[in-house]
Amino acid sequence: MNNPIPYGRQNITEEDISAVIDTLKSDYLTQGPKVAEFEKNFAQYVGSEYAVAVANGTAALHLCALSLGVEKGDKVITTPITFAASANCVKYAGGEVVFADIDPETYLIDIENVRKLLQESPEGTYKGIIPVDFAGRSVDMEALQKLAKEYNLWIIEDACHAPGGFFLDKQNNNQICGNGKYADLAIFSFHPVKHIASGEGGMITTDDEELYQKLLQLRTHGIVKEKSLYKNSVDLAGGKDNSYPLWYMEMQELGFNYRITDFQAALGNSQLQRADEGLVERRRIAQNYYNFFKDKAYVKGQSGVVKGHAYHLYILEVSDRLGLYNFLRENKIYAQIHYIPCHLMPYYRQFGWKEGDFPNAEKYYRHCISLPMYPTLKEEEQEYVIEKINSYYAAK
Ligand SMILES: *Cc1c(COP(=O)(O)O)cnc(C)c1O
Repeated sequence: MNNPIPYGRQNITEEDISAVIDTLKSDYLTQGPKVAEFEKNFAQYVGSEYAVAVANGTAALHLCALSLGVEKGDKVITTPITFAASANCVKYAGGEVVFADIDPETYLIDIENVRKLLQESPEGTYKGIIPVDFAGRSVDMEALQKLAKEYNLWIIEDACHAPGGFFLDKQNNNQICGNGKYADLAIFSFHPVKHIASGEGGMITTDDEELYQKLLQLRTHGIVKEKSLYKNSVDLAGGKDNSYPLWYMEMQELGFNYRITDFQAALGNSQLQRADEGLVERRRIAQNYYNFFKDKAYVKGQSGVVKGHAYHLYILEVSDRLGLYNFLRENKIYAQIHYIPCHLMPYYRQFGWKEGDFPNAEKYYRHCISLPMYPTLKEEEQEYVIEKINSYYAAK
């Protein structure tokens, strides 16, 4: 193998390139028709009422936290095994992050640990929860929603790893991540390692119209351009005869510029057309890994074959992880580690989190390694990866 094999990579086709070029030649560079089209198609793809495209997944999380009214001192629960942005959005809004340990089988936040946290605290202690469909495996959102309702919590589902992923509800129906039925808001990222790439980009999906309107406003500086919502008088606005001037607008809240450009939306939209094909490939690759590693003594756990899993990542838990990681690098296979537990990051340690707080997450971190997983990974490349891993342990 001459080409380096990363753990994840984008796939840009000629169609994608034409879509971007067409937009560059159009009248809109930002916030034009492609953004609206991308939003409409994405909402349809996951089955939600509304979608709001934004600059990136982190901006999406930030706007979610703000639109749900997170403020100073509000406590929000999330998992330590995630990209830091899932937790950081609470801090941006002045809230406090409380972690709950993962389930060692699924690597997802353990709903029973969340329940314990809620039971042990006075009512109203927690405002919300941010579950993460880690690696592409959906959280059991039905069970989580039931718990959240009992304790009056909102839910932001971080579905960055799981566009097109789903869980099976009690009636055995597929419930697609971010379909608006279980979480107040769900977010996605279009960073190049994710399923759908737009360079930088993000999306928020929801069924809640009020939150939708708030998100639109916060995405563009908190500005409102709708007569019926104006707070200032016509006179103050510089109009007359009960009519606001055409230039008039109001900044009603402290918002941001979190817009996505129209050419990024064109790319995302073009990629979205192939999202299902990509999922088929990811599931095929996962099945191959699973088949090969299922009986190997050096494997302590793996992502496995799970219905609805979107396989952003395929994870093995192995002995001598550091040795394997370095050996693979020597062979130009760039496996990755997802994730260093959030609570052990120096930034979070300053709030008192420490080693030993979440034994499942910490044990998982000692052994996990994410193998190359992307739709264009060739069969012989996957075989090469498997062969190298196997030979590393055979030689020991
Ligand atoms: C990628 C990612 C984010 C952040 O998305 P960006 O677009 O990179 O800002 C948030 N949460 C998870 C779980 C992610 O994987």
